[in-house]
Amino acid sequence: MKVPFYGHVRQYNSIKSEIDANIKTVIESGEYVMGPMLKKFEAEFAKFSKTQYAIGVANGTDAIWLSLLALGVGPGDEVITHTNTFFATAEAIWFTGATAVFVDCDPLTKCLDPKKIKAAITPKTKAIIPVHLYGQCADMPAIRKIADKHKLFVIEDNAQAIDAAGPDFRIGELSDAVATSFIIQKNLGCFGDGGMVITNNPEIDRLVRKMRNHGSDKRSQHSFGFNSRLDDIHAGILSAKLKHIHANNDLRRKLAKRYTKGLKKAKSFTLPYVVPGARHVFHLYVVETVDPAKRDSLLKFLADSGIDAKSHYPIAIHQQTGYPWDKQARIVGKMTNAERNAASCVSLPMFPELTEDEVDYTVQKCMEWDKANA
Ligand SMILES: *Cc1c(COP(=O)(O)O)cnc(C)c1O
Repeated sequence: MKVPFYGHVRQYNSIKSEIDANIKTVIESGEYVMGPMLKKFEAEFAKFSKTQYAIGVANGTDAIWLSLLALGVGPGDEVITHTNTFFATAEAIWFTGATAVFVDCDPLTKCLDPKKIKAAITPKTKAIIPVHLYGQCADMPAIRKIADKHKLFVIEDNAQAIDAAGPDFRIGELSDAVATSFIIQKNLGCFGDGGMVITNNPEIDRLVRKMRNHGSDKRSQHSFGFNSRLDDIHAGILSAKLKHIHANNDLRRKLAKRYTKGLKKAKSFTLPYVVPGARHVFHLYVVETVDPAKRDSLLKFLADSGIDAKSHYPIAIHQQTGYPWDKQARIVGKMTNAERNAASCVSLPMFPELTEDEVDYTVQKCMEWDKANA
C-alpha cells in the first residue's frame, strides 16, 4: 500500500463543483484583485473567527509581518517566540528590523512555554508570538497575563490551527492580532499562497488593510506600504472550503484518535499530547522517537513501506546556519525541549481524506518498527 502525506487532489475532487463554481464566478466577473469575492470571503472569515475584522494578505508570513508593523514594531525592538516552528515565524520578525528573542518550548505541547518568557523580557521587548503548533493552541491565558503585566502585544501565529480552541478560550480572544496561512498544505488551503490577519482592533485593521495595498486607502494616495493582497480566485476557493473546515477538522480528530488507539502500546516513540478540554485540529500528527538517534531509521522504515512520513521541523530555527545570528537574534536559556523535538519528530500522514485503511496500515508498520526497536 502507498500512503501519501497530502490529499490535495482528493479534497478538490470531494467538493469540485463548489470550488469550480466560485472560480467561474470570479473569472466571469472580470474582477480579480480586491474584488467582491475577496470582500465576501473576508466577511465570512471574520464571522467564522468571531472577530470584528479579517484582512486577506498574500501569505502567512506577510500576515505576521504586517501585524507586527501595524503594532509599530521595528528596529531596536525585541519580539519573543520559540524555535521549533516553521522558519517564517522568525523571518517575519527579522523583516521588521526587530530582534527575535528565542525561548524554549513546553515539553508536552511543544508550544511556547509561558514559564520561559519572563527571563527574556527587557525594556526593548514589544511583543510575544506564540505559535499554535501542530494544530493545538499555546497556553494563551498564561501568555496574556505576562503580556498585560509588562504591556506587551501578543500576535498568534495561527498558520497551523484554524478552528482549534483552548479549553476555555477562543483563538483571537486573548491577542492583539492573529496571523494565518492558506498555503495549500494548511488545514484551510487555497491553490497556491494566501494569508489572513484577524483582529478586533480597528487601528490594526486600518493599517494592515492599507499596507497590503501600497499604503493606499484612497485612489492614487500612498503612504508606507507594500503589495501583499489575497487574489479573488484564491478567496473563492477558500470561501468554498471554509464551509467544510469544521467537518474536515473533525475528520482529522477522528483519524488522530484512531492513530492514538493503535499506537498507544508503543515503547520506542511517544504520541501527541492533547491539553484536556482543548480542540486540537491535528494539522500534523507528530510522534517522537524516545531515542533521537533512531528517528531517521523510523522515517526510512516507513518510506520503504510506501508511507510518506516527514519531519516538522528537523532543524530548529536557532540551529539554522543561514542567518547572521549576531545581528538580530538572542537565545535566552537552554533550548533542551526544542532541540529534542527537532531531533526526534516524525509526522505521520494526516489529512481529512486519509482512509481508515491507510491509518491502520501506517499503525501496523509503526508497531512493527517499534517491536524491533523498543
Ligand atoms: C506555514 C507557516 C507559516 C508561513 O505561512 P506562509 O503562508 O507559507 O507564508 C508561518 N508560521 C507557521 C507556524 C507555519 O506553519
